[in-house]
Amino acid sequence: MMLYLSRIHFPVTTLGPGRRIGIWFQGCSIRCKGCVSADTWGTGKGGVSVDEIMDVISPWLQEAEGITISGGEPFDQPEALIHLLAQIRSTTSIDILVYSGHPFEKIALTLEKCQGTIDALISDPYDENAAQTLALRGSDNQRLHFLTPLGETRFRPFERALKSSDKTFDIMFDEAGTIWLAGVPRRDDMRRLKIILAKEGHLAVTTQDERSTRGKTYDTPCP
Ligand code: SF4
Repeated sequence: MMLYLSRIHFPVTTLGPGRRIGIWFQGCSIRCKGCVSADTWGTGKGGVSVDEIMDVISPWLQEAEGITISGGEPFDQPEALIHLLAQIRSTTSIDILVYSGHPFEKIALTLEKCQGTIDALISDPYDENAAQTLALRGSDNQRLHFLTPLGETRFRPFERALKSSDKTFDIMFDEAGTIWLAGVPRRDDMRRLKIILAKEGHLAVTTQDERSTRGKTYDTPCP
């Protein structure tokens, strides 16, 4: 089973409790205005097999305290997502959190098919006009669902207001020198980061800038 993948990383500490494995799908049909992950929008890139993903994450599973699957939009590849979740669940009992920009009701059928594999789900598109006061969520319209008893135990503590200690990022560097941030950014974080870097004599170009130079449409409303 092929899956279009943006990246995998361990450890990620900003997207759920503990040191987590992060799996980001490639491709997103939703295209929320203000999305900071435009590099994950393009489809048909990064094709790998689910077996290859399992090979990469397996050595980390002894140490990992959870897995977060995000994107891109995981539910845009429903069969691959179901297959990946089944493979992970047959290998480990650590919690699995999945982010989706789709409303819960729209993905209910797929959720039925992967029942028992996702412990917690954050649904609904990013809304750049909504407040940003809730933990783990980019905008307050997004809902946190507990889908298993483990999900309830692990993620109920995140059904709360954002704390200052939540405002953190994991920072990663790839071989090409590109810096990549994992976490839930606050509005204008990227602009503030660029200003700080500019004061130090560095020029930062973000994926938001790349969107505008590629001439795509960025104001497509979310479903
Ligand atoms: S669902 Fe929205 S926020 Fe998430 S990757 Fe797609 S466009 Fe960005």
